[in-house]
Amino acid sequence: GKKEPTDLNALIKEYVNLSFHGMRAGKNPINVDIQLVLDTDLGKVSLIKEDFTRVVINLCNNAFDAMREKVKKYQVPSTEYNDRAVVDGNYLPKLKVTTMLEKGWVRLSLEDNGPGIRDEIKDKIFQPFFTTKKGTEGTGLGLSITHDIVKTHGGEINIKVEEGKGTEFIIRLPIA
Ligand code: ADP
Ligand code: MG
Repeated sequence: GKKEPTDLNALIKEYVNLSFHGMRAGKNPINVDIQLVLDTDLGKVSLIKEDFTRVVINLCNNAFDAMREKVKKYQVPSTEYNDRAVVDGNYLPKLKVTTMLEKGWVRLSLEDNGPGIRDEIKDKIFQPFFTTKKGTEGTGLGLSITHDIVKTHGGEINIKVEEGKGTEFIIRLPIA
């Protein structure tokens, strides 16, 4: 594909929901409080739409996977994941997606309240094939591809981690 002026907020609305419904339709669905805080002044952003769609899906899927692991910890001993167990365990997964303008950049952030990322692996997660997921659950390619796509757009990606409390992925894209 090639870059074209894209409504990033609309893309986020569509694909965050799609990822969420995909997760809910799969194995071990969890309940997630999703908050979208989208800046209406954003305007169009120059994006390769199919590629950037992948970025949003990858980051959402990772957040859901991570929060599902945390749900497991909080759960009363039971094999079933369900919304009630989450509430009973006093942990409600949350995903906050924010867009804003920031000094010549469009800033997109996805913040989850999952387990965070251990210091020892923080600098490995963008490497191809690095995964902490068992068996066929993870290919370890999601973040590597995400990183490449952001670079192709002339942007940058950073993470902010609070161990035990959550992870935030921050993407900055140049304004065309
Ligand atoms: P995969 O999802 O196939 O494991 P990724 O490249 O998407 O591969 O992610 C690599 C690793 O980074 C994951 O296995 C996980 O350990 C870690 N990770 C990614 N996103 C998150 C997140 N939001 N919270 C905690 N860990 C994460
Ligand atoms: Mg992934």
